[in-house]
Amino acid sequence: MADADQSYVDEPGKRVPVAYEADVVVAGAGIAGTIAAIAAGRHGAKTIIVDRFGQIGGNMGPGMFAGGSLHFALKNQSDADDTELLNRTGMGSIADEFHRRVIFGRPNADRITPEVRRQLEQTHHNVSGYTMGSGGGSPGYLVDSQISSAVALEMMDEAGVETLMSVYVSDPIMVGHRVCGLFVETISGRWALRSKIVIDATGQADVAMRAGAPVLQQMVPNMGLWYSLGGVDWDRYEQFCSENEQANEDDLAWARRTLPGARSEADPAAGDNHLLPLIRKAWEANEFKYKRQVGTGIIHIAIRRITDGMAGGRTGTAGEIDVADAKIYSQMEREHRGHIYQWARFLRKYVPGFEDSYILVVAPFLGSRGGRYMDGVHTASREDMETERQFDDVLYEYNDRRSQKNCDVPYRTLVPQRIDGLLACGRSSVPYGPNFRMRSNMLMNGQAAGIAASLCVNENVEPRDLDVRKLQKILVDLDCPVAEDERLVGLGLK
Ligand SMILES: Cc1cc2nc3c(=O)[nH]c(=O)nc-3n(C[C@H](O)[C@H](O)[C@H](O)COP(=O)(O)OP(=O)(O)OC[C@H]3O[C@@H](n4cnc5c(N)ncnc54)[C@H](O)[C@@H]3O)c2cc1C
Repeated sequence: MADADQSYVDEPGKRVPVAYEADVVVAGAGIAGTIAAIAAGRHGAKTIIVDRFGQIGGNMGPGMFAGGSLHFALKNQSDADDTELLNRTGMGSIADEFHRRVIFGRPNADRITPEVRRQLEQTHHNVSGYTMGSGGGSPGYLVDSQISSAVALEMMDEAGVETLMSVYVSDPIMVGHRVCGLFVETISGRWALRSKIVIDATGQADVAMRAGAPVLQQMVPNMGLWYSLGGVDWDRYEQFCSENEQANEDDLAWARRTLPGARSEADPAAGDNHLLPLIRKAWEANEFKYKRQVGTGIIHIAIRRITDGMAGGRTGTAGEIDVADAKIYSQMEREHRGHIYQWARFLRKYVPGFEDSYILVVAPFLGSRGGRYMDGVHTASREDMETERQFDDVLYEYNDRRSQKNCDVPYRTLVPQRIDGLLACGRSSVPYGPNFRMRSNMLMNGQAAGIAASLCVNENVEPRDLDVRKLQKILVDLDCPVAEDERLVGLGLK
């Protein structure tokens, strides 16, 4: 008989084959999940990692944004002039090793002198030019993203981690309030992966939400899609920019009236004012909308020189967008890709220097800096940062480079309320602002979560009952930057 409520369909119960039994299953092979899986594997846990893509690394792999805060993450790293110490502690252990191996995996690695190699391996001190990526305008982002995926795979193989690619994590297997594994969707149908501990590293707390753990959401997610163009004559473009620096008042007034979300009166095209006459022409010919309102958000785009003949950058969003709504996310994927194609067509038709340009690559992964995250036993917050809060179960110190304030990121941020058998790491466990989600933090976060999961398995305890001192002791022994020496002594860790 048909159900009276036509808005639901009952899913019939069915038997699902158990494809794997493991100690630890990691959902999501992004930045944090990859390091978590390697850490769990190295600490003796039989580990499986699952990703919906065929390429590992999340935002740093198929997302093509490798680098970012990793510039500052090397131990004893100074700025280019060796005048300011940017980072004293490094990230420790697997995170540092991963970073170094990406640098050694570059095509030009054979040119690294033995002395530089020694510095990178031992002290990491101010090895200028040997940071990962170096901003959206560098080829480093693109090149390192591909190497990151390869290095991650290699390190997972060495740690005995089973990788399940092109497999989508669906519901957790629940026994009461305990997560006992995951259902996954594969080309062979639905499978069950049974495990003692699941780590949610999906970047959006998918598993925590489906398990019924409390989650929170930020509504200004600041999404971005990477692209690059070939066949660009950047010198010719720069020449054009320098000859058109001053936008005329009429075009500026048009931009203020027409472009949604203009950042300032003086700069309505956000750095592209020199293009305004061309942007306006294409807009009025209905060929290209430089900035577009899509639903509740605004899509924009930027371009920089990458290397000889190559330019690129990323799209961005302003405004509120509900990225936990699948229909909206899908719409955003479509619109960001469309925006890049139209932008590339516009540049080729209208802008000097781009006459022979073409799209080289668009990342397969539209990333979102903010969105859904777990409301754990503790949830990191701006207030933690502003009050420089400390916790006895500190995993690492978050350093806010803008405010120069520090606060602890404690173990309890990885532990869900109410639900057992589950840890979250990476962006699934922290909010977007302030910058808890910076890559260097995500690597340290994943590292701690993987070791914690293996400890829970070894000691047969739930994550909430783990003796955190044991975890901290391992991290300290691995040279991870848990806290200042003085505090370590106070915590009985030194
Ligand atoms: C556009 C953009 C620019 C950024 N720029 C910087 C920067 O310059 N510096 C910086 O430090 N940080 C930057 N960040 C932030 C940083 O990239 C993120 O905080 C980081 O990627 C979070 O790591 P993660 O491992 O938690 O998530 P992700 O890297 O997003 O990885 C999540 C993984 O989970 C997988 N996944 C998700 N759901 C499922 C599922 N159901 N089944 C299977 N797999 C699943 C995904 O495929 C992905 O591989 C940027 C982020 C974005 C979006």
